[in-house]
Amino acid sequence: MIIDCHGHYTTAPAALDAWRKQQIAGLTDPGRAPRASDLRISDDELRASISGNQLKQMLERGIDLTIFSPRASFMAHHIGDLETSRTWAAICNELCCRVAELFPEHFIGAAMLPQSLGADPKTCVPELERCVNEYGFVAVNLNPDPSGGHWKSPPLSDRHWYPLYEKMVEYDIPAMVHVSTSCNACFHTTGAHYLNADTTAFMQCLTSDLFRDFPTLRFVIPHGGGAVPYHWGRFRGLAQALDRPPLETHLLKNVFFDTCVYHQAGVDLLTKVIPVDNILFASEMIGAVRGIDPQTGFHFDDTRRYIDAAASLKKEDRQKIYETNARRVYPRLDAALRARTEILA
Ligand SMILES: [Zn+2]
Repeated sequence: MIIDCHGHYTTAPAALDAWRKQQIAGLTDPGRAPRASDLRISDDELRASISGNQLKQMLERGIDLTIFSPRASFMAHHIGDLETSRTWAAICNELCCRVAELFPEHFIGAAMLPQSLGADPKTCVPELERCVNEYGFVAVNLNPDPSGGHWKSPPLSDRHWYPLYEKMVEYDIPAMVHVSTSCNACFHTTGAHYLNADTTAFMQCLTSDLFRDFPTLRFVIPHGGGAVPYHWGRFRGLAQALDRPPLETHLLKNVFFDTCVYHQAGVDLLTKVIPVDNILFASEMIGAVRGIDPQTGFHFDDTRRYIDAAASLKKEDRQKIYETNARRVYPRLDAALRARTEILA
């Protein structure tokens, strides 16, 4: 089967965006603040928003299942306070849960965390618990920069984040390291901030002993790992110069890269440089780059084509990238799929 480990609900009904705008308006004018219950989206609206979009493209491209989380750029953890993020995350996660319930064969949830600038990450634990225990979610998205491009939080290796890691380890769920909208004019959200953050997260891990403290903690670094695979020699050289162990033992038991790289040469490089056990198939569709590449005539984010065409991969490598690596990195996904097979048997 083909598992896409990186999909967001970018096509949610317009009522969600309208509710969020009201919530933001309520921050300065409390009279306009909506209640969570003011948002009403029917199952039919949810179905329509998925059937003609993500599901349509999944079926066209032969993708069986997507790990589905709330729209990343809408998380905007820099807006409002902890309570703002709590309400917003709960709403967005519930919608992803409902999508997974409406299309159980094709979607399984990953949680947005109610992070907020300056808030202790342990405040995210109750929402994480709810999403795993009640919704059957299999992962979280962890924003290393809730300030939205100003980098005001400690690095991911800091004990600041440990309460969250303790819960992730207890539940055996990975985090996709995923920033949100940039409110720093220097960084375009999806063109710079996302890729910067991927690279930054990797380097924070490299310079630290995070995975000595948490040997089973797992991070998925999206967007092909930012600049990491392209500059693998630099990172290996820095690890050596900084007296760190070789990257294979230092990081590659815990850090994985997805295939959201939108051209063949990029995927060729990724699959040559990064060990195949550390690569997870993903497309992040329908996302930031949803157009058609005039050079190929296919969507930029139709990443399956690049994996299928990558010359360095053998059949068993593709099997790992498409399915078995994801089942290893997301054990709760594996368990859900096994339970499903048993029911069918
Ligand atoms: Zn994403």
